[in-house]
Amino acid sequence: MTAALTIALSKGRIFKETLPLLAAAGIVPVDDPETSRKLILDTDQPDIKLVIIRATDVPTYVQYGAADLGVAGKDVLLEHGGEGLYEPLDLRIARCRLMVAGRPDRPPRLSRPRIATKFVNITRRYFADRGRQVEVIKLYGSMELAPLVGLADYIVDVVDTGSTLKANGLMPLEHIADISSRLIVNKAAMKMKHARIKAIMNRMAAAAGA
Ligand code: AMP
Repeated sequence: MTAALTIALSKGRIFKETLPLLAAAGIVPVDDPETSRKLILDTDQPDIKLVIIRATDVPTYVQYGAADLGVAGKDVLLEHGGEGLYEPLDLRIARCRLMVAGRPDRPPRLSRPRIATKFVNITRRYFADRGRQVEVIKLYGSMELAPLVGLADYIVDVVDTGSTLKANGLMPLEHIADISSRLIVNKAAMKMKHARIKAIMNRMAAAAGA
């Protein structure tokens, strides 16, 4: 008997780019999460299910063993902290950069600059490591707006082509980290279901060119 497996994924870019890698491991979902309202998707393998959740929740599900495996962006993993997880494989998908961005025309204020971001842990650590005093403001979306309306001096956000920044009169200023999606594995599952997980990992790694 093989061990049943649950894999946590988020909708959108990560799901689309993970599909061919899962297919290489012989895992094909029966439903399309973009059109289905189901949160648990069956696959062509009766003992493998996908759970479709918010990207920022993927490490939490895997940490607590509600999912054995997951795919999460390095940005989300850095923000989460990675407790209870192994991160054995860079899938090299959904690549982008985590950047500090701001208005090119604005001199920085002399008092503590305000930084708007959804990545509060990463941002605090980045500036603290450099001995720079900042005030971090937590937002849940549309970070680019904050410098335009005087809510913040800078933002920390993921940037791909840079066109969203440009369209809002912002420019990338400092590079914090290169980002790509990683396969993550619950630590207990890695022991208990090792053969099965290793086989999936090897086939996904080959397909990802890792
Ligand atoms: P851009 O191509 O820089 O205009 O990116 C468009 C928007 O998509 C940005 O505001 C980012 O927040 C978001 N984005 C781009 N790449 C990624 C990624 N790999 N993961 C998550 N969000 C992304």
